[in-house]
Amino acid sequence: MYHFEYREAPKGLRPTRGDFARIARYLLPAWRPSVLILGCILVTSLLGLIPPLLIREIIDRAIPEQDSALLGWLVAGMIGAPLISGLIGVWMNYLVTVMSQGVMFDLRNEMYGKLLRQSLRFFTNIKSGEILSRIQNDVGGVQGVVSGTLVSLATNALVVVTTLVVLFRMDWRLSLIAVGVLPLFILPTRRVGQIRSRLSSQTQERLAEMTSTIQETLSVSGFLLSRLFGAQAHEGKRFREKAGAVRDLQIRQSMAGRWFLMWLLMFASIGPALIYLFGGYETIAGRITVGTIVAFVTYLGRLYGPASALVNVHVDIMSAVALFRRIFEYLDLPVEVADPQNPVRLTRPRGELRFEDVWMGYEEGRWTLEGVTFAALPGEMVALVGPSGAGKTTLTYLASRLYDPGRGRVTFDGVDLRALALDDLSRYTAKVTQETTLFHASVEENLRYAKPDATPAELERACRLAQIQEVIENLPQGLATLVGERGYKLSGGEKQRLAIARVVLRDPRLLILDEATSSLDSRSEALIQQALVPLLEGRTSLVIAHRLSTILRADLILVMDRGRIVERGVHAELLARGGLYARLYDQQFGRAVVST
Ligand code: ATP
Repeated sequence: MYHFEYREAPKGLRPTRGDFARIARYLLPAWRPSVLILGCILVTSLLGLIPPLLIREIIDRAIPEQDSALLGWLVAGMIGAPLISGLIGVWMNYLVTVMSQGVMFDLRNEMYGKLLRQSLRFFTNIKSGEILSRIQNDVGGVQGVVSGTLVSLATNALVVVTTLVVLFRMDWRLSLIAVGVLPLFILPTRRVGQIRSRLSSQTQERLAEMTSTIQETLSVSGFLLSRLFGAQAHEGKRFREKAGAVRDLQIRQSMAGRWFLMWLLMFASIGPALIYLFGGYETIAGRITVGTIVAFVTYLGRLYGPASALVNVHVDIMSAVALFRRIFEYLDLPVEVADPQNPVRLTRPRGELRFEDVWMGYEEGRWTLEGVTFAALPGEMVALVGPSGAGKTTLTYLASRLYDPGRGRVTFDGVDLRALALDDLSRYTAKVTQETTLFHASVEENLRYAKPDATPAELERACRLAQIQEVIENLPQGLATLVGERGYKLSGGEKQRLAIARVVLRDPRLLILDEATSSLDSRSEALIQQALVPLLEGRTSLVIAHRLSTILRADLILVMDRGRIVERGVHAELLARGGLYARLYDQQFGRAVVST
C-alpha cells in the first residue's frame, strides 16, 4: 500500500543558503559513494519500468500469437528485473548506511571534543539530559536525513519523472487523466496530515511529561522522597493522569489515520477505474491495445505513491535543517576557558599563587568576588573562612582556572593562568573536594587517571600515604576491584582517601582542598587528616577550612564575606581583633575549646 502522511514543517524556520552549504560540506566529503548511490537509484528506477512493458507484450503479442517461447522469456524478464533491482537495493543500502554512519561518526567526535573543552559554566547551566539528547538523538537523526530524506527524495523524484515519461509516450490522453487524479491524493493528504501532526505534537508533549515524571520519581532520590513522605498513592494518581492523556491522544491519532486510509483506498481505485473507462472506449474503437491499458494501470501504482511522498519533501528538508542547526549550535559553542595560542612553559614551578584585584561574576551585573588580592607563597598554606555563600568555592574555581576573572588576574609563578597551557595547569595544581568522583573502573585505573605511567611501587606508596592501602588489600580483587557507579561501594571516607592517593601520585605544586564539613565519623576523619599531612607538606595550598587544626596551621587566613576579603592574618591576630573571624570562631568552636 502507498504510504501517505503529511506533516507540518517546524514553525518559524527559514532555511538559508548558508545552512545548505554547511550541511553539504558535512555530507560532501563522501561524494564518491553519493555518486554511486545516485547511479543505483537511477538503475533501479529504470528497472522498475520494465515489468509493465513486459505485461503489455504478453497480452498483446505472446498470448494472441500463441508464442509460448516468447511468453517464457517475458515472464522470466518479469522475475529478473525486480531480482536485479533488489540486489542493487541491498548494495545501495550498504553504501547509504556506511556513508551516513561515517558522517555521524565525525559529527559525534567533533561534538564530544567540543563539549570536553567547555567551561564549568556551560555544564552548570545546561538542563540535564540536554547534552545526551543532542549527541544521541540529533546526531542519530542524521542517518534518517541521509537514508530517509535524501535517498527518498532522489528515488521518488526519479520514479515519478521516468514513469511520467513512459506514460506520456504510451498515450498522452490517458496520461492526462492519470495526472488529473493526483490532486485527489494530495489535498486530503495535506488536510488529514495537518490534524495528525497536531495530535502527534500534543502526544509528544504528553509523552515527555510522562517520561519526566518517571525519571523524577523512579530514581534513588525520588523514591526516597515519595517513600519517606508516604506519597506513593499521590504519585500513582499523578502518573495515571499523565498516562491517561497519552492513551486518549494516541487513540485519536490512530483513528484520524484510519479514516484517512479509507479515503485514500477509495481514491486509489478511482484512477484505475477512469483509465479502464476511457481506455476501454479507445480499445473498443480499436485505437489502443488491451495490453496498453493493463500496463498503464500497473504504472499508476508507481506514480501515486512517490508523487504523494513528494508532498512531504519540504517538511522533511525543514526538519533536516532544524536537526543540523541544533547540531551546529553545539559545534559553534564558544570556548570560554580556552588554551592560549602560544602558552608559556614552566620548567620547574615553585608553586606561587597570586590573586591581583580579581573580580568575578556568574551573571551579568552581579559580582560574586570583588577586588580579591592575596598571595600564597611557595609552600605556604592559605586558609579561606567565611559564612556560607561568601565566595570561597568560587575563589578556588578561579585558582584552577575553571572560570576566568572578569577583571584583574590570577597568576601561577608570576604567569597569568590564561597564558599557561591547560595541561600544564592541571599537572601543577590539584584539587581534593568533599565529593569524590570515581569512574566505573578498577581501583588501579582510577589511580592511574592521575599518572598513567605510575609504577606498582609508586601506586603502593601513594596508597600507603593516603591511608587506603589496607582497605584496598581487603577488597575482593585488590587493585583490580571495580569501583564507581555500578561497582564496589566504597564509603565516603574511603573514596576521599582514594582521591588523596590520586593527588599524591600526581604530585602537584599547588593543592586546593575543600575540607569536609561533616558526614564522616571521627575515625574516618582522623584517617583523612593523616592522609593529608604528606600531601600538604612542601606544597602551596589553598584550603577552604572547617577544622580548627587547619586554621591554626595556616600561614595566612583570609576571612571572606559577600565576595570580599574582609580580614586577613593569622589566628591569634584575627581573634584579637574581635571582628567577623572572632564571631565565626565563637559560633563554630567556642572559646572554651581553645583555652583547653
Ligand atoms: P559554602 O561555604 O556554602 O560552600 P561558598 O563561600 O563556597 O559557600 P560559593 O559557592 O563560592 O560560596 O558561592 C558564592 C555565591 O555565588 C553564592 O551566592 C552562590 O549562590 C553564587 N553562585 C555559586 N555558583 C553559582 C552559579 N553557577 N551561578 C550563579 N551563582 C552562583
